[in-house]
Amino acid sequence: MNIEKEIFKKIESYDRILIHRHMRPDPDAIGSQLGLKEILQKNFPNKTVFAVGTKIEGLDYLGQMDVVEDADYEGALVIVTDTANTARISDERYKLGREWIKIDHHPNDEPYGDVVYVDTNVSSCSELVARIAFDNGLELNENAARLLYAGIVGDTGRFLYPSTTAATLAIASKLRAFDFDASALLRKVEEISIPVAKLSGYVFQNLEIDENGAARVILTNEIMKSFGVEDYETSAVVSIPGSIENIHAWGIFVQQPNGKFRVRLRGKDIPVNEIAKRHNGGGHPLASGANAKDMVECDEIYKEIQEVVGRGVKNELT
Ligand code: AMP
Repeated sequence: MNIEKEIFKKIESYDRILIHRHMRPDPDAIGSQLGLKEILQKNFPNKTVFAVGTKIEGLDYLGQMDVVEDADYEGALVIVTDTANTARISDERYKLGREWIKIDHHPNDEPYGDVVYVDTNVSSCSELVARIAFDNGLELNENAARLLYAGIVGDTGRFLYPSTTAATLAIASKLRAFDFDASALLRKVEEISIPVAKLSGYVFQNLEIDENGAARVILTNEIMKSFGVEDYETSAVVSIPGSIENIHAWGIFVQQPNGKFRVRLRGKDIPVNEIAKRHNGGGHPLASGANAKDMVECDEIYKEIQEVVGRGVKNELT
């Protein structure tokens, strides 16, 4: 059976559906989750659909999570969007459902769920959800279109990253035809607080850049505290090195309250996800995350970035 048909068969056979997404959500996690919720509510008005996950810091303009009880999972269908592996699913109660479905666009390193629908060729999970909806004749409302558009914009860096294809733009165009204020939405997606603006200045000033175009900056607890910025707000500075000439790949090392480091890895044109996998993480070729237990491991990771960039630049030249 066609996988989309299989998903609809499952959706049709359940009265209650709970949609989860990943921890530390970004606009694509929320956009795909809440966008799917809107679509299911509109097209299956007799079903109860919940969006589940921890509070969404800084993304409240997209929507809110529902408060659910454990009992809501009894005999219910769970759908998880935009989440590569079970360890990253926000709210462990996803396990309490009767069946579950994975809908994602990350490399399928952990194919969890009764139905696994992963397409790594789409820019974002929001693009995938929109495509499923359009291809199957489902109706969208303004809010569903707004949410999915936000997810696509967020994950493509406003249509900048190479994951943006003609198909992405065609879907964005269809979504944009709905009556929502896309300009206001984009401004909101891009908006930064004054402390984050000042931290951006710090990143520009303190970025270490090697001769091949590998770069890093270390944001210790002390530095974060001095700017009054929390971990979740660092998403706004992760793309900064990509705007600088000759930089190919970089890491933003963000210390956590327990002293360890969350490492946000990015490549402009050189994959970094193999480095992430070696350090307790994963993700897309050009956008991944890793974990470092101390400064020694941070240095190791930076060395690995320097190696892949050095090799990449050399291959390009020879
Ligand atoms: P981030 O820097 O947190 O925005 O992460 C970029 C991408 O890397 C996300 O799309 C995630 O899929 C992936 N990622 C980040 N952290 C991890 C992790 N610990 N394990 C697996 N994938 C991760």
